[in-house]
Amino acid sequence: MDDVDLLIAGAGPVGCVIAERAATVCGWSSLIVEKRDHVAGNCHDEMHESGVMIHRYGPHYFRTNEKPLLDYLSAFTGWIEGNYRVKASVNGALYPFPINLDTLEQFFGKKLDAESAQTLLTSLASDIPQPANSEEFVLSRVGRQLYEAFYLGYTLKQWGRHPRDLEPSVCGRIPVRFTRDDRYVDAAYQVMPDKGYTAMFSAMIISPRIRTMLKTSFEDVRGKVHPRIATVYCGPLDAYFDGALGNLPWRSLAFDFRTLEQEFAQPCVQINYPNEHDYTRTVEIKHVTRQTCPRTVVSYEYPRAEGDPYYPVPAPAHRALYERYRAMADEETRTKRVYFAGRLATYRYINTDQAIEEALHTFERIREDAAHGDAVGRHARVQ
Ligand code: UDP
Repeated sequence: MDDVDLLIAGAGPVGCVIAERAATVCGWSSLIVEKRDHVAGNCHDEMHESGVMIHRYGPHYFRTNEKPLLDYLSAFTGWIEGNYRVKASVNGALYPFPINLDTLEQFFGKKLDAESAQTLLTSLASDIPQPANSEEFVLSRVGRQLYEAFYLGYTLKQWGRHPRDLEPSVCGRIPVRFTRDDRYVDAAYQVMPDKGYTAMFSAMIISPRIRTMLKTSFEDVRGKVHPRIATVYCGPLDAYFDGALGNLPWRSLAFDFRTLEQEFAQPCVQINYPNEHDYTRTVEIKHVTRQTCPRTVVSYEYPRAEGDPYYPVPAPAHRALYERYRAMADEETRTKRVYFAGRLATYRYINTDQAIEEALHTFERIREDAAHGDAVGRHARVQ
């Protein structure tokens, strides 16, 4: 087990990409350890017992603005067009979400065009030039009535805390549009791997230079495997340091997958329930996978404080704690050549494309550090 160039903790997007680059570009060998029984991290998709393809850890709507990133991934998958459309259930009706011209017309019961909608929202929005939190962010964009209808309840459920206690970027993920575009996200490329994420990430790590050990945690190999070049750690940052500075807060999810004997159960992939139910959203991923099948599966998503970490909780105090951990992580990189990358190891609310970009940058960093020979490993080398 010691005879490896890289030890990689986590077979999610970051771990798979770094192992692939290391093998393809440098001829380096990698040992990936993954505590779960599958690869692809939270992007993992699989066939449900009903025969319907599901996203076990919640919907992942792949998108990117970067053509080179798409070109890179295209070596491992074909693509199908993204079909990311979401509605919000508010006052007994379904509204297009994010808020767009149709949402505003339906909500206010009058015809609008881009100009009149803009005037309307300007009259409703609070004058907050520099929003300091998610509440202020939304109030400054759409005003209190829309905030209370579409954002407040959802955010309280999702995070177990008030939007005023979350950074602006959380609700800032959601655009507001003065067009009739009803896609969930704005990115230039909105596509899904045609055979799913698990197939795509599996294809990345088929090289004989890459060995993957499932059901093996980082702790199982820590101190026992001595990679020649570097360790890449993709787990929760506080766990790496055994919570030495206190626990970083994480948000988790529980899912209830229900099978229905009908082709489709809802009009689009996702319905958000800001003000009803304990779950935040129902997801019928079949709209996105485009699987042909006489039955369907809908997942009900319940936010949780306990459980596997899915989301960092973006708030100033947590960021401050993260920065202290990060100083320790930087030292670990400098002295032990351990690199931290991905959502869990950098405590950032990033999407899959951003995690992959980060993996590519991290690989370049490892390569440069190895080439400069300031390696810690006795046998550090670059090919
Ligand atoms: N959000 C909301 N209402 C919605 C959907 C989202 O208030 O109907 C807020 C909420 O705080 C959420 C954030 O916007 O956590 C980001 O939403 P997104 O759908 O991007 O979350 P993800 O899919 O990453 O869970």
